[in-house]
Amino acid sequence: MLNNVGRPTRPGEVSDSVDASETFTGNKALNLETPLTFEQGVKGRIGVDLPKAKEGASRLGGLDRKEGTGLPDMSEPQVLRHYVRLSRQNYSIDAGFYPLGSCTMKHNPRINEKAARVVGLGDIHPLQPISSVQGALALIDDLAHWLKTITGMPAVAMSPAAGAHGELCGVMAIKAAHEAKGEQRTRILVPESAHGTNPATAALCGYKVDPVPAREDGRMDMEAFKAKLGPDVAGVMLTNPNTCGLFENDVKEIADLVHEAGGYFYCDGANLNAILGRTRPGDLGVDAMHINLHKTFSTPHGGGGPGSGPVVLSEALAPYAPVPYVVKKDGEYSLQEHASGEADASFGRMKAFHGQMGMFIRALAYMISHGSDGLRQIAEDAVLNANYVRASLNDVLHSPFDGICMHEALFDDSTLKDTGVTTLDLAKAMIDEGYHPMTMYFPLVVHGAMLIEPTESESKETLDMFIGSMRHLVEKAKSTNDPDVFSQAPLYAPRRRLDETGAARKPILRWQPEEAS
Ligand SMILES: *Cc1c(COP(=O)(O)O)cnc(C)c1O
Repeated sequence: MLNNVGRPTRPGEVSDSVDASETFTGNKALNLETPLTFEQGVKGRIGVDLPKAKEGASRLGGLDRKEGTGLPDMSEPQVLRHYVRLSRQNYSIDAGFYPLGSCTMKHNPRINEKAARVVGLGDIHPLQPISSVQGALALIDDLAHWLKTITGMPAVAMSPAAGAHGELCGVMAIKAAHEAKGEQRTRILVPESAHGTNPATAALCGYKVDPVPAREDGRMDMEAFKAKLGPDVAGVMLTNPNTCGLFENDVKEIADLVHEAGGYFYCDGANLNAILGRTRPGDLGVDAMHINLHKTFSTPHGGGGPGSGPVVLSEALAPYAPVPYVVKKDGEYSLQEHASGEADASFGRMKAFHGQMGMFIRALAYMISHGSDGLRQIAEDAVLNANYVRASLNDVLHSPFDGICMHEALFDDSTLKDTGVTTLDLAKAMIDEGYHPMTMYFPLVVHGAMLIEPTESESKETLDMFIGSMRHLVEKAKSTNDPDVFSQAPLYAPRRRLDETGAARKPILRWQPEEAS
């Protein structure tokens, strides 16, 4: 038997004729509701029975709390259920496919987690004597070695704590290099399709951001780029593969031209997933590039962290790298903590300690468990999977750029024209299909963009099911004369469509009891 989607009905599947929308509890079987903790709290209820604090002189110098905290009084099982219920309403890479790709999350092999918890790595402290953390320093040194090998670059700064922090490191090195030459350069060129962190970084470092338009084929417009080069240009920040999922074919010429103009080439390497083991940034003339360990080399991340963004540097920028860095002498590891000597022109320190140790361990575990052949296959499979999605949907969705893509398949919303259904509606309908929606409305250079990055770790079966869902929704959008079917999606999620603008503009950050409001 086929259900209305054309998928075989599974044993025990409830038929569409039963209205299951109303229950007394508001729960829908395994989908369990939970009120705010403030609504659940009952005065005097306790979770932990602590002995009364001893009377004695306060050591808080008069800053003692005069009233209660205002937090609800709850029992332990109440708290536990509340958070477990919330967690079950959430989506995760362990529960399903994330078409947002490595940028947000790809599969995190469990062996990495095991390695990160090994006694002696998981419980060390950055203020321990150096002699007692030789193994940890050796690990940082090993990882640095492999990052330099993979990228073909002579130096790497390990301390930046995320991709954007790595950009800051790279552009600060560029600034320091110009200052050392006594040059005052004020402009940084950034393609229009760049990730928002690129112009933000350049601006934070005091540069004027000069946007370079894209060509018809989605790459940076070389004529516009040449016209903008000049003695006041400090450098260019280019993402390769770019945010349209395309390889910038002119990358070597871009490097040569910016060097001729006396500037430096910053490459946003967050998309390393697509070229790992296939192309070395060092061979492309890159001067600085951050590598998002949490993306390419996998670490569970989200909601702002944790991340790690080591920056590989060219010969020209290496002297300006931040401290500290690991040095090995006579078989002993130590940390170079201060810029010293004439050759060392370090711009300073980016972080209190030596970097994101937990992520270093996971990244190295990921590298070692894959081996060099496996790392290369990551890029090949990531690109193959993206092209499989692109080619499989090409008859129902329009790709703005011809030809094969790298690790991301990009579509515009031209097929939805005159249907009354928008990219946002389609994304919300994907939630009903059990997927986290793809990246939408980015890159900005493509109208109603839908950017799908499957990554290397998804199987053909998973991709086929996803492609089937997309095809089903697009065909439904084109054939329906009632776009409201879409504008109301998601229908089956724990919450219906939220007022996102209202949530951003008028956030309710303080709970008010009903009687007070
Ligand atoms: C993720 C990403 C960044 C920023 O990295 P964070 O670790 O989130 O700070 C920069 N550029 C691109 C292209 C990215 O995908």
